[in-house]
Amino acid sequence: MDTEEFRRLGHRVIDWIADYRATIADRPVAPLTEPGSVRRQLPERAPEGGEPLDGFLDDIDRIVAPNLLHWQHPRFFGYFPANASLESLLGDFVSSGLGVIGLSWQAAPALVEVEEAVTDWIRDAMGLSPEWQGAIQDTASTSTLIALLCARERTTAFGLVRGGLQAEPRPLIVYASEHGHSSVSKAALLAGFGRDNVRLVATDDALAMRADALDAAIRADRAAGFVPCAVVATTGTTATTAFDPIGAIGHVAQDHGTWLHVDAAMAGAAMILPEHRHLWAGIDGADSLVVNAHKWLGVAFDASLYYVRDADHLVKVMGTNPSYLQTAVDGQVRNLRDWGIPLGRRFRALKVWAHLRGQGMVAIRERLRRDLAEAARFAAVVGATPDWKVVAPVPLQTVCVRHEPPGLEGEALDAHTRAWCDAVSRSGVAYLAPASVAGRWMVRVSFGSAMTSPDDTNALWAAMQAEANRNAG
Ligand code: PLP
Repeated sequence: MDTEEFRRLGHRVIDWIADYRATIADRPVAPLTEPGSVRRQLPERAPEGGEPLDGFLDDIDRIVAPNLLHWQHPRFFGYFPANASLESLLGDFVSSGLGVIGLSWQAAPALVEVEEAVTDWIRDAMGLSPEWQGAIQDTASTSTLIALLCARERTTAFGLVRGGLQAEPRPLIVYASEHGHSSVSKAALLAGFGRDNVRLVATDDALAMRADALDAAIRADRAAGFVPCAVVATTGTTATTAFDPIGAIGHVAQDHGTWLHVDAAMAGAAMILPEHRHLWAGIDGADSLVVNAHKWLGVAFDASLYYVRDADHLVKVMGTNPSYLQTAVDGQVRNLRDWGIPLGRRFRALKVWAHLRGQGMVAIRERLRRDLAEAARFAAVVGATPDWKVVAPVPLQTVCVRHEPPGLEGEALDAHTRAWCDAVSRSGVAYLAPASVAGRWMVRVSFGSAMTSPDDTNALWAAMQAEANRNAG
């Protein structure tokens, strides 16, 4: 493809995306795709000869778009808000168009320095102290893995340069809330701790980690000869947006000399609102922190902001210095390969910059406040309706609900909950995801899609009532 053909098709691609976004509300939110049906429409083998890409765009219309859940849809209430702002898309295009890879500062100086700037801006916008230094990772899962690797190396005084975990005389222990994200256990397993050495700490009525239970667990482990290594606290759990008490947990972590990582993947976005910062009071006592800019903040996936208070330690754990990457300025610059796992680095900072620059913090804060108000309005409506219950506190934008008609309990109630939730999603009117908490199923209504209006909430609520009543018979 020459650049003139690229220009022609590129305009078509932008038109396609603009049309898709402009008319997205007319599509069913979720497809009724049968497993294997997309694959059957694709060729058996890679094409031997190239062809003009106009046909590719036709296939996006014919094969791809009808077989996707539309995450940017105004009636997408599943999982978490995953807004991909049009501003950030433009930054992403430029990043791909530049085709640079940040192996070192010298390999892409602007990549590094824009990344430094945008991570600092968001840090400041969240009210964190300048002690925190950030880098962009792909996902919170990776960020948490990095945190646990750093914790492991601090506890073992850099065991990695000796025999690693295999040479440690006593098992190292990781602590997390029983409602922590699955990525926390996964990170602990990948970092070599082993499932037997991951403790899931009990929670209180608000589903937040109990600092006293954490303290007791650490003391018991110490007495048994284990080595407490890291605590992962969650600012906004996935199922119910419960907030672990960071201040109290931080004190326990400090008393026992353990690392404190804070998983604020989704809810960290709310910390750009000064009135919500009390939800992570004590954050400056943590060692590391992850906030996904690719969730509620609005930057197109992927852009996970990983912050640490001791950047030297991070670089020491992650650092590599092969001769072909050494440069004369290494002592004066950040080589971001030493701030994460991959050597290669995408210019993700461009999409963050474009997003912040195009929207401005005032508008982003207002959008979050709008979503919070809409979630509160919805919770009040549900809570005031007979047979419906809001089953968990609503500190942010996720409302956990159940339809509890008289006489339905236990497994029958679970089956009813999952059935009406699935029926709403299959109707195409709105998309919802259920979750199980403390052994009982409920439905999470997650607000925050940038295009959602009160009419969309009303349409969702009408669909929920219709499907729940139909299923209850
Ligand atoms: N942590 C929490 C609290 C989350 O809600 C999620 C996302 O669903 C994750 C971690 C995982 O995020 P990622 O997909 O960026 O790894």
